[in-house]
Amino acid sequence: MGPTGPSIDEDAIVSLTRGLVHCDTSNPPGNEEAAAHFLGDHLAHKGIAVEYLQVEPDRAILLARLPGFERTGSVVLSGHLDVVPAQEPGWTYDPFTATQVGDRLIGRGTADMKGGLAAMAVAMIALQRSGFRPRADLVFVASVGEERGMVGARHLAASGVLQDCAFLVVGEPTGLDVCPAQRGILVFRLTVHGRTAHSSMPELGVSAVSYLARAITALETHQFAYQENELLGAPSVNVGVIEGGVAPNIVPDRCSATMSIRLVVGQTLGQVETKVETYWCRQMYLERGRTAHRIDNTV
Ligand SMILES: [Zn+2]
Repeated sequence: MGPTGPSIDEDAIVSLTRGLVHCDTSNPPGNEEAAAHFLGDHLAHKGIAVEYLQVEPDRAILLARLPGFERTGSVVLSGHLDVVPAQEPGWTYDPFTATQVGDRLIGRGTADMKGGLAAMAVAMIALQRSGFRPRADLVFVASVGEERGMVGARHLAASGVLQDCAFLVVGEPTGLDVCPAQRGILVFRLTVHGRTAHSSMPELGVSAVSYLARAITALETHQFAYQENELLGAPSVNVGVIEGGVAPNIVPDRCSATMSIRLVVGQTLGQVETKVETYWCRQMYLERGRTAHRIDNTV
């Protein structure tokens, strides 16, 4: 590396971001393969070794590597190719065109996080062109399915390709602040099945709405066990969607809530899921023992 370090091609960052935005990777369904090849072709053209991991049809993870002297302790630059669907009203520009307005690019995923992927790819090219040879491998990963489903992260973990990783930098937008820690998340839907009746004789029914309301309060005030952590704080619960009931004069026999719990150090997905389930079941049993419930964590 020269005394001033490798020079960054800013125009290349803009054009790669625009090209990536042109590839509609709205998830669902994702269809990230074209975007992976667009970026991979550019890196390969610059002499960087690339490979692809096929996760599902039309969904491929891009891996690029600057080889180091040592086999372990690699540094990974990571990001996701998929974006959330551009269904919000009020778009004044085509979300998949990446229109330049002043010094801003407007389009779906310019910030989250095709701009980040383009910046990391160009940084890698700059390092390679400067003749820099890292101590351990420098690996660039453009993954799939981050906005929903996490299929890319699961595939990467199962494939073991990042086994030797010592450091991982995620290029998510954080306003250029360094974000050294991130809480985990458990997303699930709870469905309560009660028994319907006419509202004139509610004692003949079991209100699914009432049960779920009480269970939500219980969950929101539950003291989950966790380890104190200065960066991450405490776990938290958010009830995002609730659906149930038909009419004011009918005891509702079904109600569901989709919610998320943010996890911190000292908690695992399995433990929290078990806790929710046992807590929930016990609540049901104590109160009447006549309802059924279902937890669906695939939402
Ligand atoms: Zn993101």
